[in-house]
Amino acid sequence: LVLTLQIVVQLDTPLFLFLAYGPEKLEPAMLLAQAAGKGAMAIVFAGLAWLVLCRESVERFPVLARGRIRSLLGAYAFQQSRLELLERELQTDPLTGAFNRRYLERTVPDILQLDRRRGDPSSLLLLDLDHFKAVNDRHGHLVGDRVLRHVAEILREALRRQDSVIRYGGEEFILLLPGTGLEAARSVAEGLLENLGQRPLRLDDGDLVAIGATIGVAVSPTDGSTWQAVLACADERMYAGKRKGRGRVVAASTATAGPM
Ligand code: GH3
Ligand code: MG
Ligand code: MG
Repeated sequence: LVLTLQIVVQLDTPLFLFLAYGPEKLEPAMLLAQAAGKGAMAIVFAGLAWLVLCRESVERFPVLARGRIRSLLGAYAFQQSRLELLERELQTDPLTGAFNRRYLERTVPDILQLDRRRGDPSSLLLLDLDHFKAVNDRHGHLVGDRVLRHVAEILREALRRQDSVIRYGGEEFILLLPGTGLEAARSVAEGLLENLGQRPLRLDDGDLVAIGATIGVAVSPTDGSTWQAVLACADERMYAGKRKGRGRVVAASTATAGPM
């Protein structure tokens, strides 16, 4: 240990000086001073390492035994990966694999704040499936569940890695698009409706279940300073879209919205 540390520390400074400044900087007084200082420190650290690793300390502190350390590190890594999995599961909706409310409350504020600090907009889309109750009524709730899974998959496929698909309620999804302004978000939303329309769920008997949705789009920070305010705005626009006949994207406030 002492030898290895000595070789490393003694060669370090002269080599650096030689490479950086050339041979004229290798003054004997400085080389001697650094050799003495580093030599002393190398002996101190080697001594400490020896104390920690020698047999007696292992007997006194069994935790230092080599096999024990490896198994402790293994157990730690295992626990760590389980914690990460648990954390991920806590923020995931078990039916659709989309994120859930906990993610919305814990992670979305951070994403919005990051964009705001950078001066970038972020868009929030509220997507509500049209006449979903009728799907349940006609085909049963298990088929309804399959439709929800199918929709979540289409949304995840269509969006970018940095976007989030969050199941907000029964047949309502929030889509968070960081770094995306209103016009870009509107065209993403229109693309999603087209995508959903083109991919009905095929049942085992060959029947097709058509999927339609209405989307309200709002932008942070223009439409609100908190995620709740932005969501309320997207919600309002989504309901305006329902009143106008469903199957559409509403990305601006409509003063003319009538009763539902
Ligand atoms: P609209 O176009 O106005 O949105 O009509 P809708 O039928 O989609 O809306 P409504 O709110 O009347 O019905 C939503 C339905 O979603 C009712 C509920 O049974 C169903 N639902 C909510 N969560 C689940 C779920 O996890 N699985 C299934 N199969 N159905 C669900
Ligand atoms: Mg709904
Ligand atoms: Mg609905």
